[in-house]
Amino acid sequence: MKNCNKDPVKLKLSLLNIVEHYKNNHEHCNELSKCKNDSNYEPTKYLIKDPKAEMLLGRALTNTQVYKSPTDYVYCMDSYYMESFNNAILQYHDKRINFSKEVYILRTSLAVLDWNEHVNRQTTSLKTVQDAKNPRRQIQVKILKRKSYNMWSEIWDQLVQIYLDL
Ligand SMILES: [Zn+2]
Repeated sequence: MKNCNKDPVKLKLSLLNIVEHYKNNHEHCNELSKCKNDSNYEPTKYLIKDPKAEMLLGRALTNTQVYKSPTDYVYCMDSYYMESFNNAILQYHDKRINFSKEVYILRTSLAVLDWNEHVNRQTTSLKTVQDAKNPRRQIQVKILKRKSYNMWSEIWDQLVQIYLDL
């Protein structure tokens, strides 16, 4: 959806192309796809060779709500930032503690400040670690630049200014 450029026709064609992708035909796959960019690309799923399976997958795709009403989905975006924020807010919201409304709002505000200041932090290096799901596999994780917390001095300055203005 994020690669359709808000074009419902392109969205429908990209859905139909899923069948071709799984037949190992990548002619119309997105230019950013791994199958187009990685010269060592190997499919991770079974390739479709049975015409009946091809027909069933095509039918399943054309029966999706996204295919039937593509204009409703052309503005869809990646949920990465939402998931990232939901993860970051847990540093301020312990789900086992029932905070008062004021404290809840304060903690939410702090989480927003923290997330806004540190979202899209630069990567300093990559670290190779063992994949928890597949111990024989090594994966690379990003080591992010240390958090700056410049917001604290800005908050402090504003608080001092409020007291000075009293
Ligand atoms: Zn492909």
